[in-house]
Amino acid sequence: MVVNVQELKNKYPLIKDMEQAKAVIWMNEGLMDTKSAMEGLTLSVDDIDDAERRWTRFAPFIEREFPETEEWGGLIESPLKEIGKMKDCLNTQWRAGLEGRLMLKMDSNLAVAGSVKARGGIYEILKHSEDLALEQGMITREDNYEKFALPRFREFFHRHSIHVGSTGNLGLSIGIISAALGYNVTVHMSMDAKQWKKDLLRQKGVHVMEYASDYSEAVKQGRKLAKEDPMSYFVDDENSVNLFLGYSVAAKRLKTQLDGTGVTVDGEHPLFVYIPCGVGGAPGGVAFGLKQVFGDHVYCFFEEPVQAPCMLLGVMTGLHNDICVQDIGLSGQTAADGLAVGRPSKFVGKTIAHMLAGEFTIGDDNLYRFMGALMDEEGIFIEPSSCAAFQGPAKLCSSPEGRKFLKEHGLEGQMAQAVHIAWATGGNLVPQDVRRQYYEKSRKLRAQQDTQ
Ligand SMILES: *Cc1c(COP(=O)(O)O)cnc(C)c1O
Repeated sequence: MVVNVQELKNKYPLIKDMEQAKAVIWMNEGLMDTKSAMEGLTLSVDDIDDAERRWTRFAPFIEREFPETEEWGGLIESPLKEIGKMKDCLNTQWRAGLEGRLMLKMDSNLAVAGSVKARGGIYEILKHSEDLALEQGMITREDNYEKFALPRFREFFHRHSIHVGSTGNLGLSIGIISAALGYNVTVHMSMDAKQWKKDLLRQKGVHVMEYASDYSEAVKQGRKLAKEDPMSYFVDDENSVNLFLGYSVAAKRLKTQLDGTGVTVDGEHPLFVYIPCGVGGAPGGVAFGLKQVFGDHVYCFFEEPVQAPCMLLGVMTGLHNDICVQDIGLSGQTAADGLAVGRPSKFVGKTIAHMLAGEFTIGDDNLYRFMGALMDEEGIFIEPSSCAAFQGPAKLCSSPEGRKFLKEHGLEGQMAQAVHIAWATGGNLVPQDVRRQYYEKSRKLRAQQDTQ
């Protein structure tokens, strides 16, 4: 499809800032009450419950294969931590004017994959494996799924292959879980993928194919190769409902965690959640889940790099995957490898179009600055992609767009009781020497003037 950029710019003037790679704030005028937003969608809370039960069935297998999940009883879950010092730092160094509490949802520390991809990617492979095993009569849903670790299961899965296209983290999660089950697994990596991620996968016996092109191209190649092999399965990050549902379970778990820390979410106590976005599956799935659990009291914001704001472009214009960031002259290249996606998921964009509160975009330099600040203030390391999560908390209350949004939604009087959650989407597997390089970079950048 040929996109008429001039026409789009007239209709959506924000594109004029976006094409210059400026950090922008977009508030979604299409945001609806949750009930209306759900109309016409095929997914519902029942699908999330079904996904949650599947995770529970697999818990004995996960606990056995990945003993680090023992404290969660074989569930792959992450801590929720209040980060008061980071909040103070945002208020002093970024003049954020943030009230209420700031928390970090530490999917950066999720077991097995060290990123949010542990939710969607692992879930999809578990679902596929359960489907195959059920089809063959190898299990029933009432069995103890520890069985999946038996040699005859591994031999069975070894006759099947898995393909996935990735900028890095999805490949890590799919590669690690698929190898654990015994599959023949190939990860198609885009040029953005970091070397250490490819090395780690190869160590685990995963085939890694490298492409000198972007994410969409890596996905295309994976899809093509999978098609040629009848015993193979392609994990389609751009369209997968299973990935989406795997992510969505996070919302129910978050509710339990908030309840446990005595946090209420209601009309007087709004919840603001900020999630880094690539193709859309992870933030979309999580946001969809949050809307089912907290309804109109949760406000979900996505965050994208200034060079790759694909979801913002797709949802704002309604063109979804018919538009890409290159259409408006952006490169799609960013230090936020997990977010380096030029064309958004149509399925996700359409599903969350009326649930998304808005978007913040962020320049690469600011990613590093937030990274360094979180290290210095809280002693927590998360990878640069994840740090996009702080752009919202830094800007919501201090920007004209944010303040207008709060006013229009009658939220101004409630901000002192608000909870803000920055969703840390990755970091745990980043090697020490890479962490040191990032930190050095952040120190240099923090010594300079804050730009975007
Ligand atoms: C993949 C990823 C995201 C975004 O997930 P999408 O499903 O691509 O939108 C965010 N942060 C990190 C660290 C990621 O790896």
